[in-house]
Amino acid sequence: MNYRHAYHAGNIGDVLKHAVLARLIVYLQRKDKAFRIIDTHAGIGAYDLTSEETQKTGEWLDGIAKVISTPMPDDVAALLAPWLDVVRANNPGKDLKLYPGSPALARKLMRPVDRLTLTELHPADFDTLSKRFAGDHQVKTIHLDGWLALGSFLPPKEKRGLIIIDPAFEEIDEFDRMASAVIKGWRKFSTGTYACWYPLKDRYGLRRFDEALKDAGVKDVLTLELSLGKSGPDTAMLGSGMTIINPPYTLAEEMRTVLPWLRDCLRKGSEASWSVDQLIAE
Ligand code: SAM
Repeated sequence: MNYRHAYHAGNIGDVLKHAVLARLIVYLQRKDKAFRIIDTHAGIGAYDLTSEETQKTGEWLDGIAKVISTPMPDDVAALLAPWLDVVRANNPGKDLKLYPGSPALARKLMRPVDRLTLTELHPADFDTLSKRFAGDHQVKTIHLDGWLALGSFLPPKEKRGLIIIDPAFEEIDEFDRMASAVIKGWRKFSTGTYACWYPLKDRYGLRRFDEALKDAGVKDVLTLELSLGKSGPDTAMLGSGMTIINPPYTLAEEMRTVLPWLRDCLRKGSEASWSVDQLIAE
């Protein structure tokens, strides 16, 4: 396992992922009934933007740093507020120093009745993650292969939940692993919301993933993409997407407001683009 998210925290992929994640959790908050969030590839929870790793790549300078410092229209600001308020709360000074990853973001948006299950496989990253949430009775950290979490922890006892699937895409067959794990999870818990992130690099892998969901009979799947320039298997990542199973009915419209603004804010060239597509009907 070579991938360490510390080198990439706050980058353009995290921007899409965490903007969407916050909207999904805000929607879950609409009902009083408790929910569970399962984050299968959790990372370390939050990232020090002054660290050697983040300074080395500076990817966050092209991501969160631009988003937070660019004026935005009121409708975009209102939709991004649940995410950006958490980023601001972590950075009370004028400089960005700490970037909340998916666990820290989810934890901040949970209510006292809600629960968070985090799995992380990298031993050192798991150690950091578990220390971060030690003593927090609403959060369970587990040193486990995240692909097994989907088989083991579903359905959650709350019967309401969000599963965040954010692999490192280090392995050539990551899309295929994601397809079989998500389908297995969906068969056990078909009413849950599944949010799967992917880099826009391997179009063939993505097509296999989409086809596998269709063949398995999964319904109501939304695809969101944000690309800041032309990228491919041999270039740096310039875009990413999310496949959302059972999205809130509000999400597509929200993203039609947010994604064009993010594209303009973060664009790297004339080929920047965004899309919101219903991949599979309800
Ligand atoms: N979700 C995090 C966030 O948004 O802050 C970032 C996660 S990062 C993209 C992917 C993480 O998955 C890395 O920390 C990596 O160590 C971990 N990982 C890789 N393979 C894994 C596996 N099979 N099971 C669980 N974690 C894994």
